[in-house]
Amino acid sequence: MRPFVYERPADVSAAVAVASRFADQQDQPTKADVQFIAGATNLADYMKLGVATPKRLLDLNALREPTLRQIKIGDGIIRFGALVRMGEAADNDDVRRICPLLSESLKLAASGQIRNMASLAGNVLQRTRCEYFRETSWPCNKRDPGSGCAAMEGFNRQHAVLGTSDDCIATYHGDFAQALIALDATVEIEGKRGARRMEFAKLHRLPGDTPDIETNLAPDDVIVAIEVPFAAWSRRSHYLKIRDRESYAFALASAAVALDLDGNMIRHARIALGGVATVPWRAKAAEEALQGKTLDQEVAETAADAAFVEAKPRRYNAFKIPLGKRTLVRALLETRDMKV
Ligand SMILES: Cc1cc2nc3c(=O)[nH]c(=O)nc-3n(C[C@H](O)[C@H](O)[C@H](O)COP(=O)(O)OP(=O)(O)OC[C@H]3O[C@@H](n4cnc5c(N)ncnc54)[C@H](O)[C@@H]3O)c2cc1C
Ligand code: SF4
Repeated sequence: MRPFVYERPADVSAAVAVASRFADQQDQPTKADVQFIAGATNLADYMKLGVATPKRLLDLNALREPTLRQIKIGDGIIRFGALVRMGEAADNDDVRRICPLLSESLKLAASGQIRNMASLAGNVLQRTRCEYFRETSWPCNKRDPGSGCAAMEGFNRQHAVLGTSDDCIATYHGDFAQALIALDATVEIEGKRGARRMEFAKLHRLPGDTPDIETNLAPDDVIVAIEVPFAAWSRRSHYLKIRDRESYAFALASAAVALDLDGNMIRHARIALGGVATVPWRAKAAEEALQGKTLDQEVAETAADAAFVEAKPRRYNAFKIPLGKRTLVRALLETRDMKV
């Protein structure tokens, strides 16, 4: 048992102030001595395993700002407060009607019990499930920089084929983040530099040679909301998740798709891929391959090939390339055929 101090700040500015005072690893929020906690379904897990060892926990659940717990819809924006629970967002009828992709990505994640506990901000900041990261006796550059990567030559069936580096091939396992990156979401942040906004696409960092630095947040940055733009086209959007079992499992491959169609012609496709990459993965090459085309099986397959051109398979995860392509093809055709 490692001792830690537990506090419940009363508002966001108090949380930022305490975090600023105690943060001692300025670039590494996930390793910092002080950490925020919301649903605790990810962080408490890693504390029990000895992977996360914060000295101070700041519980965000007592923050008094009501907007942190609200979903607001208007002027072409869905604004999710950071403490909204996954289950509440998944079950929101307006969100489901306006943009099914958001609801589906949440509904297919984790279990009902976890979705009732887990917050949206905590969800997008969840850490990898790489088995060698979770078991502290293995070398792991993400957990212990410079120690090596046991997954490279180990059993890497769950690992990523896109966005990998020579130092880390861990998959980003979240689902909601794939919807957010596909839809050009924005994150609202409060930190010691004041309030600011960040494109969701800039929140997570590729592993490169610093896989231990996972996001572009500072240790005292609190996410207060996530904003998602919507329009008529977002009704034609869909999340397809393929996994080892149909419930309570992370994606082996997934596809988040939103199609803006002019008759049968694709004006604009928005695509992200899950289960196959080290960070939430926007598939721009696939989007470009679809622009101006009439979507059929052949066009969808060409787009899926484009999405995986840069993929780097390892010994046990090469199957993710054909699986990821088939997942994207099916998601595209199912989205085309939606009755909206
Ligand atoms: C068995 C199991 C299966 C799962 N399956 C899936 C799945 O299929 N798909 C999926 O997407 N997820 C899955 N998950 C992950 C689960 O969804 C996450 O654990 C959960 O969403 C994390 O949210 P939380 O609020 O509990 O985060 P916490 O554990 O409280 O926090 C997680 C991280 O976010 C930080 N944080 C939290 N809130 C803020 C904030 N407002 N500002 C700044 N930092 C913040 C914390 O400091 C911490 O680093 C699964 C989890 C388990 C245990
Ligand atoms: S893949 Fe990344 S998280 Fe997993 S052992 Fe290697 S360095 Fe660690």
